[in-house]
Amino acid sequence: MRKKIVAGNWKCNTTLQEGIQLAKDVNTQVEEKGAEDVVVVLGTPFTHITSVVNSVNKTRVGVASQNCAAEPKGAYTGEVSAAMVKSTGAGYVILGHSERREYYNETSEILNKKLALVLENGLTPIYCCGEPLSIREAGTQNDYVKKQFEETIFRLSVDDFKKLIIAYEPIWAIGTGVTATSEQAQEMHAFLRETIAGKFGQEIADETSILYGGSCNAKNAKELFANPDVDGGLIGGASLKPEDFIEIINAY
Ligand code: PEP
Repeated sequence: MRKKIVAGNWKCNTTLQEGIQLAKDVNTQVEEKGAEDVVVVLGTPFTHITSVVNSVNKTRVGVASQNCAAEPKGAYTGEVSAAMVKSTGAGYVILGHSERREYYNETSEILNKKLALVLENGLTPIYCCGEPLSIREAGTQNDYVKKQFEETIFRLSVDDFKKLIIAYEPIWAIGTGVTATSEQAQEMHAFLRETIAGKFGQEIADETSILYGGSCNAKNAKELFANPDVDGGLIGGASLKPEDFIEIINAY
């Protein structure tokens, strides 16, 4: 059975001290009342990863970086490699977030290099996809996201594809307070699962966790997660508030 996953994306928020406190608070909530069948992941800034890994119960809370370098190592000033992320004790890497695609020109070609390095280093990619508002308004969102798949994760071997977590995040819903309706989320997730089945077979599609992201919060998570093809969430703003984050974790 595919996993239920709630992953936080802290983005460029919190100082190290604030981040450690946040991780400890989330950890306490998870240990006290977190649903045991939900995988919880905290996507922290690079600077925080080691400290956060050492501040949580590793059997209940996983840690992700929000990016990694497209090269394995060398003269790439300011970059952090997948091997470095692995050496901190983190288990996941968020890849292809729309903010990275948009503000840092992350192309499919770059993403493919990162995906390969993340997988080579035994880390789990949380692969983000999703359409901008203009595409949603034109009604071509399915083709758009399918193309994102075809240019990246559909080039992986079956064995590597099986290691992925996918996060569908309509760009128009990220950080805007506008959430996709429950129907819009289910429709896209079902389409993505069908598309995966067409490429890798039904069994693999049924085992792939597809998370929803985009203004998901303590109030709307229950309705979104009630959909048969929504396997959890990638949570931005609400992951910075432990009381809200735990409600999302327990929203199934
Ligand atoms: C995100 O950045 O992945 C995200 C879903 O953000 P928010 O929840 O704030 O919309």
